Amino acid sequence: MKAALDDATLEKKIARYVPVRIEFDRGRFDDREYEALKYLVAASRVMDELFWKQAFRKGVEYRRRLEDPQTKTERLLAHYLKINYGPYDRLDNMQAFIETGPRPRGATFYPEDLTKEQFEAWIEKHPSDKATFQSWFTVIRRKPDSKELVAIPYSSHYRDELKKAAELLNKAAGCVDNESFAKFLKSRAAAFLSNEYTQSDMDWMDVKDSRIEATIGPYEVYEDHLLNYKAAFESFITLRDAEQSAKLSKVAAYLTSMEKNLPIPDENKNFERGQMSPIVVADLIYSAGDTRAGVQTLAFNLPNDEVVREKKGSKKVMLKNVSQAKFDKILTPIAARVLDEKQLEHVSFDSYFNHTLMHEVSHGLGPGRIMHEGEKVPVNLVLGELYSSIEEAKADVLGLYNTLFLVSEGVLDEKLREGALVTFLAGVFRSVRFGIHEAHGRANLMAFNYMVDKGGYLFDPHEKRYSVDLEKAPAVVRELAREILMLQALGDYPKTKAFIERYGSMSDNMRAVIATLADIPVDIEPLFGVEDEF
Ligand code: ZN
Repeated sequence: MKAALDDATLEKKIARYVPVRIEFDRGRFDDREYEALKYLVAASRVMDELFWKQAFRKGVEYRRRLEDPQTKTERLLAHYLKINYGPYDRLDNMQAFIETGPRPRGATFYPEDLTKEQFEAWIEKHPSDKATFQSWFTVIRRKPDSKELVAIPYSSHYRDELKKAAELLNKAAGCVDNESFAKFLKSRAAAFLSNEYTQSDMDWMDVKDSRIEATIGPYEVYEDHLLNYKAAFESFITLRDAEQSAKLSKVAAYLTSMEKNLPIPDENKNFERGQMSPIVVADLIYSAGDTRAGVQTLAFNLPNDEVVREKKGSKKVMLKNVSQAKFDKILTPIAARVLDEKQLEHVSFDSYFNHTLMHEVSHGLGPGRIMHEGEKVPVNLVLGELYSSIEEAKADVLGLYNTLFLVSEGVLDEKLREGALVTFLAGVFRSVRFGIHEAHGRANLMAFNYMVDKGGYLFDPHEKRYSVDLEKAPAVVRELAREILMLQALGDYPKTKAFIERYGSMSDNMRAVIATLADIPVDIEPLFGVEDEF
């Protein structure tokens, strides 16, 4: 096996991930929970093996060959292979760091030489194949000795692994006292064997008041760059955070007041929405597979099955200890270089995590269905490809706006007033490092540029540091909230486009500051304490 890069370059790339131990506290679990965890971790490891297989044809083979590294290069390769679950760099456009061909766009989900056009032509010619070919849970193969394509269900293609995972989930269910959680584990086990996942997704939505939760199976389709059809295996084992969940229900009680308080005319407010969709705050105990590769997930929103979403909605799970790790190892050092030193005291994990919560809550506020050409239509249809950036920007600014509101109502702690404004400023510099062509990065950038433009954020050209004008910033936040909400309320495509163009690019000042952050890690590499137990 030959490295495609020299040792120094590999070392630099690996250093972008800072190792962090995700602690496991045995004392937080009783004996039955501990027993259940043992099986859940084992089942997660099966997901991990499956993802190694899905991500790259020779992934498992490469990993084995590097199991006992003899040279420095081999040691570096082994480490980076493990971070990326294969020889392709997930922070650098999937460039190979081991000499091998370019990454097949469809990973291992399709024959490597199959093109999108051939796939679509096949469906055109064989319309009855459409459902199974486009299914999230099949792989596409060529029949031996012919050009004929065939869809193979995961339940057959990965039969041995899925049988094992099903057994483990059933054993875990036997140790779980919470009925709704046990029900999910059993129905997910059944899904592994039947390839029918809808019922188990429904049961996942119905899990109630369980301290331990598991999200395990084939979920996201991002690994399939060819067609975005095929789901990759992953697992999250989590422990619910009672304190934060209580805080969320307190905030949820203010949903209508927050809608009323939006800085737009009453006729543009939206009182039609029902309940806030469920948000769970939890600590991650263990993760495996797709989610463990490359950049670590802070929060996920599942299921993806539209049938389930229509009946049950979706559930957002936010991982507090992962957020804390990223805050400590990445955001704190960034803040120290980016912010005026006098304001560093306002940077806190509480403020950071509060903003991510309020960001999520704020997605549920503001214009939903609007009048457009005489019809009531969802605003996302009217704004098309501009929608995700402007919706994320809305959630960012309303996250600030609503925090200030709830502080003034006495619902949130006073410290969050300055904390929210200053910590958000530092956070912008963390998120734009992942690129500004993605909705979240661009949204952060737009809020930032607007604040600078209107004097809410100040730049010191001599020190090359930013600060918040704490007197002025709340009014600028309000003004920005109003502008973005009205773009949505009126479904004004040209104005939205102009807004994104005006505020969606990086200034030279910002670039200069970002250049000073090159040695700060981009993400974490989690090392799970629970692995010492089982
Ligand atoms: Zn969002």
